[in-house]
This record gives sequence, structure tokens and C-alpha cells, in this order.
Amino acid sequence: MKHITHWIGGKPWDGEAERHGDVYDPATGQVTGQVDFAGPAEVDLAVGAAEDAFLTWRRVSLARRASVMFAFRELLLDHATELAKLITEEHGKVTTDAAGEVSRGLEVVEFACGIPHLLKGGYSENVSTGIDSYSIRQPVGVVAGITPFNFPAMVPMWMFPLAIACGNTFVLKPSEKDPSASLLIASLWAEAGLPDGVFNVVQGDKVAVDAILGHPDIKAVSFVGSTPIARYVYENGTRAGKRVQALGGAKNHMVVLPDADLDLAADAAVSAGFGSAGERCMAISAVVAVDPIGDELVSRITDRVARVRVGPGSDERSEMGPLITGPHRDRVASYLDSGVREGATLAVDGRVHPVIGAVKGDGEAGGGFWLGPSVLDHVTPQMSCYTDEIFGPVLSVLRAPSYEAAVDLVNGSRYGNGTAIFTCDGGAARRFVSEAEIGMVGVNVPIPVPMAYYSFGGWKSSLFGDSHIYGTEGVHFYTSGKVVTSRWLDPSHGGVNLGFPVNT
Ligand code: NAD
Repeated sequence: MKHITHWIGGKPWDGEAERHGDVYDPATGQVTGQVDFAGPAEVDLAVGAAEDAFLTWRRVSLARRASVMFAFRELLLDHATELAKLITEEHGKVTTDAAGEVSRGLEVVEFACGIPHLLKGGYSENVSTGIDSYSIRQPVGVVAGITPFNFPAMVPMWMFPLAIACGNTFVLKPSEKDPSASLLIASLWAEAGLPDGVFNVVQGDKVAVDAILGHPDIKAVSFVGSTPIARYVYENGTRAGKRVQALGGAKNHMVVLPDADLDLAADAAVSAGFGSAGERCMAISAVVAVDPIGDELVSRITDRVARVRVGPGSDERSEMGPLITGPHRDRVASYLDSGVREGATLAVDGRVHPVIGAVKGDGEAGGGFWLGPSVLDHVTPQMSCYTDEIFGPVLSVLRAPSYEAAVDLVNGSRYGNGTAIFTCDGGAARRFVSEAEIGMVGVNVPIPVPMAYYSFGGWKSSLFGDSHIYGTEGVHFYTSGKVVTSRWLDPSHGGVNLGFPVNT
């Protein structure tokens, strides 16, 4: 049984935790590890280490910070396979998918390697006679990141590379469901030469989150997770005077216009709906087929779904792994019943999908947390399978009589993370890009996750706060701007003037 603990001040914590959580292998349903849960004392210890480290790290030259970042990048590359394997063991996703998340996280590290350029300010000579002005951005101090289970490496990497490169020190609170990746990452930072205390990890649950939100020495919090918790973190963090960006849940629509390439659209719907078992915040969960192509599109989707190979993430044949926990699998499956009860058609029932090479657990209720890909057709906006974020392998298909009706559906959603349109009509696509009230839009691209040099974030209930994450908005979030107005004495200096400083 693996023991997973905190990482504080450059080394694993060696105390005795009062509370623990079980960590599962979702492919077998077996408990494989125990993770320590931090209380206020452990959070305080980590924040103290980060406070101490901040005093020196903020003064380290940009060149040195960049070189530590480059070294970390090299080590991440060297250990990418090991990291992906750890993710598969605790999350369940197939290893190619886990490797993909590592490489998307790596892109943010690479972006952060350019920190000397990213922190360049502006300079204006002679804003008034003999006076110059310039702007600088300075680190905010100790910042915290609270992350979800679905990307145990990538989502933390949306946060800490830029936070650290900007001169802050960091306390990460990963998901208690798949905590091991954070510790491998911490050890790679140490090997890269990051001073002790700049990067810390506290494991745990709500107790640790509340200790972070209430800690007076934490200046900013980045959160990614479900909408109710994002709202909670935003409200409590800002009430405590912190800067907060809190990214929440999603319900991403894919609109398919009648002129779309239906094979491309069906491939995209299946890939984006069932990749990582639908446990992605940018997964497509609602396909909106604009009349008259609904039946044809559903038939092409269901053909493809039947061929999806479901099995353990570590089995090379698998395309889709298990869900994260048994209760989550049961909750996701309950939407198949509620959908039918509320009038939808169950076009594909994932509960009877074959699972290849599955290892059975000890108990009868054991075994992996399996649910195959499912499709609910003729879904309407009133049904709970549509209004709720399911976060699993259930694709809902809605029919819309027109482009306008499809856009109304997209914009009527309380979420605004991602959306996509499939069409061969450039004018319609352009109009959709303009009209969709959504943070990230794809045109014939189902999962439009921005590259590291743009920023990631949704609208409405998918984001609380003003800043999107990573990219230049990330640099702004992790720094405070300062404008300096400076005059060096010359013969024109002198005389008291109580007037407002205006430019004469
Ligand atoms: P979650 O909200 O349950 O947990 C996220 C974090 O909050 C975890 O670290 C968890 O320990 C902590 N937490 C859980 N309950 C808490 C509580 N009551 N009080 C304080 N902290 C609490 O989310 P999850 O199930 O781990 O992840 C899935 C969710 O994350 C989905 O809703 C998904 O859409 C969302 N997500 C969003 C994005 C995005 O970029 N918008 C990205 C990934 C995941």
C-alpha cells in the first residue's frame, strides 16, 4: 500500500497525519494507497516555508529563474512516461491520454521559460519636462493552486510554472483522488535546482482548502474544479482579501450545420465526447444537430461508439478507461435512466458495452469503475441530463430547427467554457464565433483548448474572477503592476507647488 504525503520546504513531510483518504486504481476498484490529509497546521507549515522562500526567490534574477525553468522542462521530458503511468494508475485514463496531458502541461512550462521577455515593462521618456515613467510587474507573494482530479499534472501546470517564473512561491493542493503526480513533480523541481520552499504540496480535502482560503499570508488562489466549489472558493477567497481565479464546470455544445462533413463531425463528437471517459472540462457533452441531419448524424455516431475499445488505461488496446470512482460511475449512469424517464431515447447504453482485459477486484461490488460510452438522443433543454454537468461518457443529442435555435441553446446554457461549430460555410462559422457567449470556440475543431501563449477560461458559471488561466493573463494574475514616475534633479527643480500634478 502506497503512502502519499505532503511536500514542504523541499522534502516530503515526515509527520503523522490525523486524517487520511483512500486512493484507488479505477481499473480494478482496489485501494492502492493512502494519502495524508492536511489540517490547518500542515497548511500553515507549507505557507511558512513558502513565505521564507519568497524573501529570496523574488530577488533571484530573471536569467536564473529561466534557467531553473529550462532544467525543470528537461526533467519533465525525461520523466514524462513515468508521470503518465502514475496518472493512469490513479486516474484510470489510457496512457496515451495521460501522456497527452503531460505534454500540454509542458507547453506552459516552455512558455514560462520566456519569463524575461514576458515581464518586460514599458518606458516613456519625458512624460513631463525632465520626468520619465516606466511600468514594472512584481510577484504577489505566496500563491496557492487547488486542482481537480481529471488532470492531475496538466491543470497544476496551468498554474505553477508562471507563478514561480514570476517570482512567487507556490502551495499546491491537488485532488485527493489522484495525488501522486504532484509529488513526482515536486521532486523534479528539487532536482532542477528550485530553492526549497518555492514549490510545496499539501494533500487533502475541504479542510485543507478552507485553511488555504483563510490563511492571511496567501495572496492569491487559482482554483479549477466544479462550479459549486469554484463559486465557494471565489466568494470566500475574495472575502478574505485574496486575488482569486476560479474555473468551474462546463456543458460544451457542438453545433452541426446541415452542410457539415458528417463523417468529420461524427468522428469529432465521439472523440471529444468519450476521450478520457468524458471526464474533461472541454469534453463535448451536447451535440446540436440542425435539421434535417439529426438521424443521419446519430447513426454515424452510434456506429463509431460501438467500436470504441473500453479497458484498463494500462492496456495498449484500450481507447477509453474507467471512471474515477464507483459513486461517480453510478451517478453518471443514473442520467441514462433519468434521460429515458424524461423522454429521451437511449441510442447507446454504455452499461452493456464490453470491457476488454478488465481485472476483477476482490469483492463482488469490486472490479473497475466501468461505464461504456452512451448516447441519449432527442434530448430537450428541460431534461436533467442536459441541464446538469454529467462529467462522464454520456453524449446528449439535441435537434434544432435552425442555426438561430442552435445558437440560442448554446447561449442559454449557464455554462460558457467551450463550444464548437461544424460547417463548410465560412460565413456561418464566422457569425457563430461572434455570437457564441462562450470563452473558447472551435470551428471544425471539437476541443479548442488554447495554446500556452493564449489564455484558457470560460464565461458565465465556468469562471469566477477576471483572469483566464496561463498565457499573458496568467502573468498578470501572478503579478501586480507598478508605474514609476521619476525625476532626477536638474537646475529647473525647486519650489513648493500644492497644485495637482498636471502636464504643462
Ligand atoms: P471538485 O470541485 O470536486 O474538486 C476540485 C478541488 O476542490 C479538489 O482539490 C477538491 O479536493 C476540492 N474540493 C472538493 N469539494 C470541496 C469542498 N466542499 N470545499 C472545498 N474544496 C473542495 O472537482 P473534481 O470532481 O475534482 O473535478 C471535476 C470538475 O472540475 C468538473 O466539474 C470539471 O468541469 C471541472 N474542471 C474544470 C476545468 C476548467 O478549466 N474550467 C478544468 C478541469 C476540470
